[in-house]
Amino acid sequence: MLQPRGDYLTASRVSQQKCCRTLQMKEHMPPSQEDHDVTAEPRCKRRRSMESESCSWNILPVLSEEASREIEMLQAYAAPVLNKKETSRLLREVSALHPLEGLRHLKRVRARRNRESPHPLEMLLCLTLGKEEGQVPPLSELLPEEKVNCFGLGQPFLVLVPSCPPLTRLQFQEASAYWPTSFHENKQVTEALTGQLFSKEEKARMQRYMEQAIEVAHQGAEKGNEAVGAVLVNPATEEVLAVGHDCRRISNPLLHATMVCIDLVACAQGGGAYNFDSCPLCSFAASVKEAPGIGVTDRFDDADSSSILPYICTGYDLYITREPCIMCAMALVHSRIQRVFYGAPSPDGALGSRYKIHTQKDLNHHFQVFRGILEEQCQQLREKSQ
Ligand SMILES: [Zn+2]
Repeated sequence: MLQPRGDYLTASRVSQQKCCRTLQMKEHMPPSQEDHDVTAEPRCKRRRSMESESCSWNILPVLSEEASREIEMLQAYAAPVLNKKETSRLLREVSALHPLEGLRHLKRVRARRNRESPHPLEMLLCLTLGKEEGQVPPLSELLPEEKVNCFGLGQPFLVLVPSCPPLTRLQFQEASAYWPTSFHENKQVTEALTGQLFSKEEKARMQRYMEQAIEVAHQGAEKGNEAVGAVLVNPATEEVLAVGHDCRRISNPLLHATMVCIDLVACAQGGGAYNFDSCPLCSFAASVKEAPGIGVTDRFDDADSSSILPYICTGYDLYITREPCIMCAMALVHSRIQRVFYGAPSPDGALGSRYKIHTQKDLNHHFQVFRGILEEQCQQLREKSQ
């Protein structure tokens, strides 16, 4: 079995894919009890400032680790095809002797990139696993003559091949520079990475939601909370269902802005665990009771099948100024959120920075995450909370 283990080589060429990879973080400073005075600048001036900076932000998807990491390479042996007429037979015999188990994305034959080469094709023979590093054994050792008739093949040489199938177009381009691979493109991911997923109107709407989150973050900070704000939206009706700010300092240490919004929706649906009487800015729209969202068929896992209640945030979007922590990220999983948009990353964030909870394969709900809406203003909020 040729398993991609042991001698991973990392591609030395780091591509422009950096933009959607590990987020570059500023040094995290512990939050301070002081310096949350965000009232120095009049609110109306802040609003004008936000309007004038419209569309100065980029929205990027936060993809899984597999889709955003650098492509890893494996060392393999290949050989030029000296006689093109032998290609089909060689392909059949070499594939039977060295099947590419776990590496089905690799093409067995590639065209030579150097057009002046006398041999237009090269064939992948096998990985170098178990062989002495850097050494190239003779063809007779790699392809015993009782298994493969090597007529038509030239002297073997070392190549690098991608260890896993590319998941994005950038990974595909990076991988193809080494050895050709198959690629099943997810058009939505490609559009998201190139900034073409959302229309101008959608981006304008997103900005308005984030501006509302920033506004409530400022208002919460004025009461002594960390400057984090969030709004929960039903994208089917474009209605803001809940607005909340961080309440951990004045109410309950668990009441981060995300938890506040989820609990407000739960309250409106007849549940909820907290009392927000001391936080009048944290509120839900009266219509949330009649607006079950677009996922009305998603029910409690253990609910009676006759139940028609939606499960808290099914079909809804959360806009939040700061990347949620792991507690909030897990609450978003459990509440069945559809999408999360956050402004500024956080070193302890669980949706891209420290973890990528939304892409964990062994969880029973996954959601899309985007970052970058009004990032600069959201980052300023973060700095004011420190
Ligand atoms: Zn949190």
